[in-house]
Formats: sequence, C-alpha cells, structure tokens
Amino acid sequence: MFEPRMCDTCCIPLDPFMLFISREVEYRHPAWVGVEWDHVPVPVPPDPGRLRGVCDFCSSDHPVTAFETEKMIVMFDGLSIHEFSEPWSACRRCAVHIRRRSPHLLIERALQVIPGTLNQPDRWARRTRIKALFMNFFKAKPEEVGL
Ligand SMILES: [Zn+2]
Ligand SMILES: [Zn+2]
Repeated sequence: MFEPRMCDTCCIPLDPFMLFISREVEYRHPAWVGVEWDHVPVPVPPDPGRLRGVCDFCSSDHPVTAFETEKMIVMFDGLSIHEFSEPWSACRRCAVHIRRRSPHLLIERALQVIPGTLNQPDRWARRTRIKALFMNFFKAKPEEVGL
C-alpha cells in the first residue's frame, strides 16, 4: 500500500506508519534493531546497490534469504498504523526457525541477539512486542522467496 523507502543516511529499509489523524505516512527506522538511532530517517526510494540488508527478525547483518507473507502485516500502535515492508529478510539462523514454523525458538533467538542493555520491564515489553509480531507473521503464512 505504501511506497518502499530506505534511509539515505544508513541505507536500511524503513517501515511506513500511517498516522490516523492526518493520514500522513511517516517512515521510521525499524524498532527492533536495538540500536539508538543517532539520526532522523531520510526516506528515499530504495537503491539496490546501497541497500543494507539486515535480518528483520534479529537485526543481524547478512541476511541469506527472504520470506513473503500472504497478507501484509499491519499492527496498530495507539495513534498509527504500522505496515511492515515486504519481503522479510532473514539470516541463516532465523531462517531455520521460520522454515520449521517455530515461533518460540525464533522469539528466543531474537531476544538473545538484539543488542541493548534493557532493564527487566523493558525486556518484558520487548518480548511482548516481538511475540505479537512474530505470531502475526506466522499467521500470515510466510513463504520463502529468497533474496
Ligand atoms: Zn538511517
Ligand atoms: Zn536473524
């Protein structure tokens, strides 16, 4: 529904959010990369030569494959609709859990790998978010399409 965009500064694919009130589309860095972004995203059309691949599940570099879901995954977070861009890149380790349809192993993997020192309530919040997202992902019937 929304045009794909990458960040001109860091070359990471951005996620579109539509704000309910203004119906404006805003592009943001992916939330679960676990880094504090030191710059605001600069949305530009994706340039395949510069686009930096990251695993959409655990945020590590070097995705080896990609999955497409039958339905686009949309989540609501208070004031905006968040559409996750397709396809979903996956690193070698995450791809194993996706092929085996093991959401719980995938959640554990992501929580172990995503960097960041979080206190207990933040960890809990992250787990809840990741779990909701990954469950939606599996419900949307991912199919491996490769890179
Ligand atoms: Zn950026
Ligand atoms: Zn991964």
